[in-house]
Amino acid sequence: MVDVLSLPLPDLTRFVEEQLGERPFRARQLFSWLHQRGVHDFDRMTDLSKAFRARLQEVVKIGALEKDLEQRSVDGTIKYRWRTEDGRLIESVYMPSPDRKTLCVSTQVGCAMGCTFCATATLGLLRNLTPGEIVSQVHAVNREIRRNEGSDLLRPLTNLVFMGMGEPLHNFENVKRALSILRAEEGPNFSQRHITVSTVGLVPMIERFAQETDVKLAISLNATTDEQRSRTMPVNRRWNIEALMEACRRFPLRQGRRITFEYVLLQGENDSDEDARRLARLLQGVPAKVNLIPYNENPGLGFHTTQDARAEAFRELLAQAGVAAFIRQNRGRDIAAACGQLANQGGQGERLRFDQPGGVA
Ligand code: SAH
Repeated sequence: MVDVLSLPLPDLTRFVEEQLGERPFRARQLFSWLHQRGVHDFDRMTDLSKAFRARLQEVVKIGALEKDLEQRSVDGTIKYRWRTEDGRLIESVYMPSPDRKTLCVSTQVGCAMGCTFCATATLGLLRNLTPGEIVSQVHAVNREIRRNEGSDLLRPLTNLVFMGMGEPLHNFENVKRALSILRAEEGPNFSQRHITVSTVGLVPMIERFAQETDVKLAISLNATTDEQRSRTMPVNRRWNIEALMEACRRFPLRQGRRITFEYVLLQGENDSDEDARRLARLLQGVPAKVNLIPYNENPGLGFHTTQDARAEAFRELLAQAGVAAFIRQNRGRDIAAACGQLANQGGQGERLRFDQPGGVA
């Protein structure tokens, strides 16, 4: 059965015309029920004819997520755990602040990238999420906010970051479809300025990302020498820092836009004065903004959080070198909902090897 939640409007239109013999405006109506109003029950789509609804019941499905668990942090962050139809568990993290309501979404069940400091990496990759499962996280949290906060907006969320479980550019086709749905005027209508996709640095995919989407890009750099980076991020053995920075320099940026570089501070690993100076040099010629992320310790992985004073000194050195750097506030630490802490099922998944000749991604 076709999962209608996964179809961008042009594909849904083709399906409704060719497979169901209905006019294109029917597809627009269905799409807006699914993605603007977030209604996932055909019986409530009252402006569709009974016959059309009955036909939909027969031939399509809506691949929804079911809430499995919710944990609330003292800082207002809420971590949601969802169960997919095949019983997999994924997580999204809601981060409200006075000026925005941001959701961090997952793109895969687990991850194949193998970053040694990251909890999700310990799972390996179990499977890709479908476009429907990616956008469902957004619909489900919009529903939660409407109920919890009494919001009467159809879409109370203002910002999306693709920084949950998984590597978005390793599931690019589905992420692209999800973006098309999320950006659609007839759907959630997020502007491109309010969506950021974060990557470990799959270089060939960065080029495609630039050509085929218009949302913002973040790069998880996390090191300033190839030796360091290959140790903590195996992807660097395939595409090293120079190749990555070259791709960033080629990345077409609209006026006033910058690439965000995420830099997780790991005590004694990548947080020296020398690292700060090297980082500033690496970023020369790239319109960049650096987010310094305090490491959230995952017991057993062996890395430690950089002390606040060291983080501040690191930021100061970058600022002196003319690099805009911010120490990211740590959200949801008390509920293990902070960056790189999303992991919840045994590690049976697949891992990519980046150190073999012809190694893939
Ligand atoms: N795969 C993508 C998106 C998910 S990770 C990427 O790597 O960009 C989102 C961010 O969390 C990345 O910058 C990653 O380096 C960071 N991260 C991973 N584990 C972390 C941890 N334990 N503490 C702080 N940040 C972490």
